[in-house]
Amino acid sequence: MSTSTYGSAQPGGSAAGGETVIDRLVESNRKYAAGFDDPGMGAQPVLQVAVVACMDARIDLHAALGLELGDCHTIRNAGGVVTDDTIRSLTISQRALKTRSVILIHHTGCGLQTLTEDFRHELEMEVGQRPAWAVEAFQDVDQDVRQSMQRVRTSPFLPHTDDIRGFVFDVTTGLLREIDPQP
Ligand SMILES: [Zn+2]
Repeated sequence: MSTSTYGSAQPGGSAAGGETVIDRLVESNRKYAAGFDDPGMGAQPVLQVAVVACMDARIDLHAALGLELGDCHTIRNAGGVVTDDTIRSLTISQRALKTRSVILIHHTGCGLQTLTEDFRHELEMEVGQRPAWAVEAFQDVDQDVRQSMQRVRTSPFLPHTDDIRGFVFDVTTGLLREIDPQP
């Protein structure tokens, strides 16, 4: 068992010796479950919407969009980019679980704007193997949102592509700014 601790990941917490951040999460879950009542809801999102967003820790999607438990599917990755795996999730979301709308959310100050595709080369130099995946780094966040909208809209697997909208979330104001699909 690991003896490492996550000192900086215990804001305001008692610095219990040897307790890892995951130990804390599991403890929080016990409290959560103690007060949890089965909401009795089905798996189909109530609002029939899928949210594709960056994994950035500063975006509380449910709070920022007024979403409640059961309302939506949430698909998050580094950048909120539309990869093959994002399309996989959206396809299942639409075809098996009846969602119809897709909202794409990138944000200001994204870590992917600090990387380039050289990252793959650097990885290869370090570990002797080039990753099969693209870094999906970008410079212009507006253009990356446009590309993401285009990838969703043109996917042959998605039956519902008439309600796709893209936004940039400002991490300093909490406000969404809509991106016009046409530059
Ligand atoms: Zn990001």
